[in-house]
Amino acid sequence: MIEIQELKFTYPHSSFKLHISELTVETASVSAVVGPSGSGKTTLLHLAAGILPIAVGKVVIDDTDVSRLTDAERRRFRLQQVGLVFQDFELIDYLSVIDNVLLPCRIGDAVVLDNAAQQWAETLLEQSGLADHIRKPVTNLSQGEKQRVAICRALLPKPAILLADEPTGNLDPQTSDQILELMLSSARENNTTVMMVTHDHSLLNRFDRVIDFARFLTSPETMSPAEGTPQ
Ligand code: ADP
Ligand code: MG
Repeated sequence: MIEIQELKFTYPHSSFKLHISELTVETASVSAVVGPSGSGKTTLLHLAAGILPIAVGKVVIDDTDVSRLTDAERRRFRLQQVGLVFQDFELIDYLSVIDNVLLPCRIGDAVVLDNAAQQWAETLLEQSGLADHIRKPVTNLSQGEKQRVAICRALLPKPAILLADEPTGNLDPQTSDQILELMLSSARENNTTVMMVTHDHSLLNRFDRVIDFARFLTSPETMSPAEGTPQ
């Protein structure tokens, strides 16, 4: 569950202002985040992920008030509780598929590299239809397969939330659909709350909810996202 109250954010030396008065995203739900370029979608993901510090307002993820964490606590929270997926995958080319998925074990101590982690990485890859590719170099994969590896990596720590920033932006419609299906099924199976930024309106009817940032632009002082119904 993600609960946001009176969140305000500005970048230094920038006129951009984000103000979300209230937003609640249910546990294990899958929400699309839509809106014009520059409206603050990526910024919101970074605030929820603990990448950007929260100076004003409250962001609670499950039982953690992210806005009250120290920098070190926020980093640990991000590594343990947040899965991140990007448009350009951000895989490490010289590592195999499984070693890319196990990458969170090598960054800090939030996830321990043991037999259980290895097994879980393989299970995730099998669930994602990548059983035949586990030991291959990641460079041998198609775009859609690479994004599936990135999703497996994001899910490795069994995060409370999966935040995906235009993960289907570089993929064809059929592959986009597969990526979304993978996120939907992982949300259901692992109780993961998913927020996915997308420009692809053909996908919106598959989400539980659509959070539209266009609303934020019409009344900049009290921006409260609409309870969107998928179109
Ligand atoms: P979106 O993802 O909806 O396209 P962003 O959250 O990336 O929007 O950006 C929102 C606004 O904040 C934009 O005007 C952008 O130029 C600005 N912005 C983004 N990142 C930074 C930064 N690091 N420093 C200053 N301004 C930024
Ligand atoms: Mg963005």
